[in-house]
Amino acid sequence: MKKLFQDAIRERPMLADGAMGTQLMLAGLEQGNCGEEWNLTHPEKVLAIQRGYARAGSECILTNTFGGSRIMLNRHSKADEVIEINKAGVQLVRAAFNGRDGYVIGDIGPFGGLMEPYGDFTESQVRGAFEEQAAALVAAGADAIIIETQTSFEELLLGIRAARDAGAPCVIGSMAYDVTLDGSTFRTMMGVDPERAAEFMEEHGAHVVGLNCGTGMDMERAREAVERYKTVTRLPLMAAPNAGQPRLVNQKIVYDQTPEDMVKGLVPLLEAGANVVGACCGSTPEHIRVFRKAMDEYLASRELK
Ligand SMILES: [Zn+2]
Repeated sequence: MKKLFQDAIRERPMLADGAMGTQLMLAGLEQGNCGEEWNLTHPEKVLAIQRGYARAGSECILTNTFGGSRIMLNRHSKADEVIEINKAGVQLVRAAFNGRDGYVIGDIGPFGGLMEPYGDFTESQVRGAFEEQAAALVAAGADAIIIETQTSFEELLLGIRAARDAGAPCVIGSMAYDVTLDGSTFRTMMGVDPERAAEFMEEHGAHVVGLNCGTGMDMERAREAVERYKTVTRLPLMAAPNAGQPRLVNQKIVYDQTPEDMVKGLVPLLEAGANVVGACCGSTPEHIRVFRKAMDEYLASRELK
């Protein structure tokens, strides 16, 4: 039987995938349109991106379901396609591995608003949306669920609980940190620091503690976050920083960090104790290919010692 994701990554660090959203835009998705619906309307384009990651050496790939909750899909009047979109998301990653033994990570991103009393959504609406999405991902055979790009404990908790209640074999919580203006530290938009985030996730039954995306969170900052996680938890850790800072060029968002720039931070991140390394916005299959090579060399040298 296939090992649980959280057990497999304790034995040997694993390489995840790179960006999906920015890759969909390169494939023709217009800004503001529903990328998740492409699981049904343009499956070949989603598959081509994920196949690119699988071929580059990703061992676990996130489903194209970041905005696949009812609340997010409702913005595009696609709320009645929640189940189909999430199911197709899992099937596409499975197909991308082409028979290889990869891990399918069901992706749940933020619901995209604020809960009462700050915003318009009730806790029960958000809970219901996450439960529905998590159940669809698990029913379709996801090996894990990641609750990602999280900034608040309230929403993170609803996601973790939904994934656990759905029977997800592994639950990953992943926070998006922003480097503070003075550059001295980082915390989420809602003021959560990494130590508290890791403690909170462990307390509520997550199996893996992660970070992704964020502002100013490069490979070096990701390494710092992993080190800070390590001071409070023994759970396995996952890091997927962006390919540098987004810049607006001719109305298009571009990311500058080349695979060669980014890979310099890979071994330090692994040495700090990251069990899974991937990359977020702006990264490409080429970033993952370069990561793969560096990671293989690192693992081989570690075995020789
Ligand atoms: Zn990102």
